Amino acid sequence: MALQMTWVPSPNYTEGRYQNISRVIIHWMAGTLAGTDATFTNSVTETSAHYGIENDVVHQYVVESNTAWHSLAANPFSIGIEHSAAPGRLASSATYAKSIELCADICRRYGLTEADIEPHNKYVRTQCPGTIELERIKAGVALALRGEEMIENTQADWTRWSRLHRQATGKELPKERFDRDFVDQDVRRGIDLISNNDQADEDMYMADLGRRVTDEKWHQNILDLRADVTTLKESLGKEISTDAQKRLKAVKSKVDELAELVK
Ligand SMILES: [Zn+2]
Repeated sequence: MALQMTWVPSPNYTEGRYQNISRVIIHWMAGTLAGTDATFTNSVTETSAHYGIENDVVHQYVVESNTAWHSLAANPFSIGIEHSAAPGRLASSATYAKSIELCADICRRYGLTEADIEPHNKYVRTQCPGTIELERIKAGVALALRGEEMIENTQADWTRWSRLHRQATGKELPKERFDRDFVDQDVRRGIDLISNNDQADEDMYMADLGRRVTDEKWHQNILDLRADVTTLKESLGKEISTDAQKRLKAVKSKVDELAELVK
């Protein structure tokens, strides 16, 4: 889906490009989008950027193929993006989300990566980009560019993927896909539920886990595990809480077998 944006033309730019586009430069407005519009559309200010973001609104002031005036020596090879934030007002999550979307789109179009996203103050002695969390944007872009690929790959990639996700969104990764950590966690939850002796919860847990696991061998092992747990529960009668250690050990050994399978 193409990014929605509003064209707010600035007279402050140099026609064309003297160098290839190789960087995205992050700025903060130290104010609002309306204030930035006023500054960039006024020729007296002799300043501009390509984009301004406030929540889910994007304004474009200069086309990418022209050189905007935002980072002096870096202008010829960069695209400048302003973010709505000011002293005492942090950028919103929506602003970050939109920035990540725009930066990822730019990176895809010019063959760049998150490593090519840089702060204004790398090039000019300035406070800019103020409180904008560059790492949050970079993590989100890395996720957007490579997330799906990474999730299909190794455990190391999965770990990186969850870290980037947490960094970019401030939230834990949705546990939709199989992964060793996820299974370990889910099994722990399962053991808790079984210990509570709540059949409804246990059924829900097993059904939920089974549904999300696609590998047939794995699924079979889950069914085996379930059968073992059921047998164990029956053999122990209703007073299972008195023998939690024994049950836990039995479940744990099954879990270890399962863990071996996914190594
Ligand atoms: Zn700046």
